[in-house]
Amino acid sequence: ATPAALTAATGRLAQAGLLVTRGHALETLASATDVVFDKTGTLTHGRPTLQAVKLLVADTGAGDETALRALAALLEAASEHPIAHALREGIDTTGLVASDYTNYPGGGVEASMGGQRYRLGRADFVATFCSAPLPEEAQGWRDKDTVVWLASATQWLAGFALGDAIRPEAAALLAQCEGLTTHVLSGDALGPTQAVAQTLGIAQLKAAALPADKLSYVQALQAQGRRVIMVGDGVNDAPVLAAANVSVAVGGGAEAAQAAGDLVLVGKLTALGEGLQVARQTRRIIR
Ligand code: ADP
Ligand code: MG
Repeated sequence: ATPAALTAATGRLAQAGLLVTRGHALETLASATDVVFDKTGTLTHGRPTLQAVKLLVADTGAGDETALRALAALLEAASEHPIAHALREGIDTTGLVASDYTNYPGGGVEASMGGQRYRLGRADFVATFCSAPLPEEAQGWRDKDTVVWLASATQWLAGFALGDAIRPEAAALLAQCEGLTTHVLSGDALGPTQAVAQTLGIAQLKAAALPADKLSYVQALQAQGRRVIMVGDGVNDAPVLAAANVSVAVGGGAEAAQAAGDLVLVGKLTALGEGLQVARQTRRIIR
């Protein structure tokens, strides 16, 4: 690559909000075959808000909605996940004390309060902890939303439905990705992942993916000779970003993801589309 052409392209992209942090990034971008998007915080705002609460225990006073919302907020006290922010929003936990916080990336959180241990997160994650089966009335509840469940070791207590809007410029970005095979990869459940894929016309999807599943998904594509652009944010995406042929860390995300990014997106999503265009043009000039 001629340094002058690359420098000019890099400058143009920085103005649009796409920072090139690794020299090979533009050339790899131009020759990519697939683009894989993380859902939460990438295609969506990643700022979910609480939409509804489902109580799974009789209202005994101790198990009422206010108390369970406070418990959920408390369990999330040590988490930086967007879901944690949403569950803490506007909740007063004064006087409540939890301990022994454990964070399970892609699953949820666990902590102790009042001598009891609780889990909060994905249904399958909570199901491996709670000895009771998920109550029938909970199954399929708000399946287009992201639902996290709260349980003790013996009892399912409540579900929290979180809504997270698709970024307005995501559709334009998908149009700019024409010619690439598109994928969405999410730790979230199938319902909300499908809803996003359908709205944006994304061809392939994998839901309920743990960080290790995201990594093997991209590696499986590479084993077929595909060259993969991975676009993601968050600590959980750092391994898969590192494995991709070219990684795009969405700005404002965790530092680990930024460190893993060959490109860092600090502007709108559509700056990545400009990046694709500039990369293809630059390659034409260089050759
Ligand atoms: P995505 O791939 O969509 O960005 P993540 O991998 O960050 O999603 O999380 C996947 C799922 O794990 C979430 O949808 C949620 O069900 C659960 N989860 C992860 N972290 C938390 C948390 N702090 N509190 C509750 N649930 C969580
Ligand atoms: Mg995410």
